[in-house]
Amino acid sequence: MTASRIVIENCAIATVDAGDTEYAEGHIVVADNLIESVGAGKAPEGLENVVRRVDGTGHLATPGLVNTHHHFYQWITRGLAQDSNLFNWLVTLYPTWARIDEQMVHAAAQGSLAMMARGGVTTAMDHHYVFPRGSGDLLGAEIRAARDMGVRFTAARGSMDRGESDGGLPPDFAVESTEDALAATEEAIDTHHDASFGSMLHIAAAPCSPFSVSAELLREAAVLARRKGVRLHTHGSETVEEEKFCHELFDMGPTDYFESTGWLGEDVWMAHCVHMNDSDIAAFARTKTGVAHCPSSNARLAAGIARVPDMLAAGVPVGLGVDGTASNESGELHTELRNALLINRLSGHRENALNARQALRLGTYGGAQVLGRAAEIGSLEAGKAADLVLWKLDGIGHSSIADPVAALVFGAAAPVTLSLINGRAVVEDSHLTTVDEDAIARAAREQARRLARIAAGN
Ligand SMILES: [Zn+2]
Repeated sequence: MTASRIVIENCAIATVDAGDTEYAEGHIVVADNLIESVGAGKAPEGLENVVRRVDGTGHLATPGLVNTHHHFYQWITRGLAQDSNLFNWLVTLYPTWARIDEQMVHAAAQGSLAMMARGGVTTAMDHHYVFPRGSGDLLGAEIRAARDMGVRFTAARGSMDRGESDGGLPPDFAVESTEDALAATEEAIDTHHDASFGSMLHIAAAPCSPFSVSAELLREAAVLARRKGVRLHTHGSETVEEEKFCHELFDMGPTDYFESTGWLGEDVWMAHCVHMNDSDIAAFARTKTGVAHCPSSNARLAAGIARVPDMLAAGVPVGLGVDGTASNESGELHTELRNALLINRLSGHRENALNARQALRLGTYGGAQVLGRAAEIGSLEAGKAADLVLWKLDGIGHSSIADPVAALVFGAAAPVTLSLINGRAVVEDSHLTTVDEDAIARAAREQARRLARIAAGN
């Protein structure tokens, strides 16, 4: 059968390939779900079975954005604990989170995914770790939402087994037993993980954080993930309080603790990594452990500024994360390109911390690296999956900036004229084609109110 082709022409292109190749005016040819060619000028003549031609005049084409850390369920608990640090925020929100159910998580997942996809995210990731007893198939609800929207997805099956009575932060009724958490993680992998090239769904094993899980769960989850060939994800070195907690409980810092439980390696990525010293960064670089940098969430919870320029210089793979929307209410990733650049310039390297190209790389290829998918997505190259975004840069917000990558990163959030995920148009003219955005907004509001009522005990 002949491939169906989409031809995009007349746009600027930032490929984010190994040499950061850019074209001031170029073309991209998509054949079914793969990129067939990328280059300068017009597409080759005589292509067969072209089902669509897109005039990209006034646009920049980039790889689709890759999100590497999120908690979808928080979409229905936004705007709470507005002035708290991480530990106080967690203690405030856990009792509400412990009341979530499948219907709520589905509505929240749709909201989270819709917000990101409209803003150019083509690969989403979720770290779900709250599984109240009898709450239904929460992971399944998220997977359904991503599949229905047509977004490429890594679902990290999280877990917590260290409740308050064991010195942890979450209330006891919000945690699982170690055995149950491991069994459910294995079942999620067996049921859902698709390791094939261009897969739309990966599962990762993801105990929540050192202060909410036991050392045994960390160790056993690492063994399980390696036996099954899936990746490992958790929160690491997020706050000074966490660092103190690790020293008190384990007599070592978070990175040493992770190393002692088998949690450094090229199949691991961690969110935040704000409080890392030189030897921590060297350990991540040596083992190729990845980092999900979440600048807005780190600012919202006053966690600090991750040492991204030092990590990149050392060779640590770094991607960007929205993080849960209870600590980053905007829920968008394209604005994190800008925030990563700006926030890192407030740290030691100042104006040399990150440039616009590096910020774009964090949000695309860097994300693909930390999700273990750099061979499939993250750059515009022939043979890769057709995940790409056409950003409109000829409108009032951007038309006076000559450098399109600078317009995208330094400028206001750019409208998405077209987003292809696996060769399928999921966004057209800033709107999702696959789902009803108004219905998603209504369901999210209803479920947020329902959760607030239940959490208030009436
Ligand atoms: Zn998080």
